[in-house]
Amino acid sequence: MVKRVGSYLVCISCRRVYPKSELEREKKEKRRDTYVCPYCGSTRFSKEFDDVVLIINPEKSLVAKKLKIIHAGVFAFSIE
Ligand SMILES: [Zn+2]
Repeated sequence: MVKRVGSYLVCISCRRVYPKSELEREKKEKRRDTYVCPYCGSTRFSKEFDDVVLIINPEKSLVAKKLKIIHAGVFAFSIE
């Protein structure tokens, strides 16, 4: 089930989840027109995503392996 979570956005490229306020602040600081993922530089975000996973130890995590995540962080499990 996909829920609309208004205050969070997920980067479509790297699946990292950001509070909208954080992206908004970064956008203002850098004087950009669009949100940019601070991690991978992508400008494509989605508001609609499923469960969120916290990856602490990507080398030992089966979920990280499945999602091809190699860094620690908060990631969306599936993106609409
Ligand atoms: Zn990204």
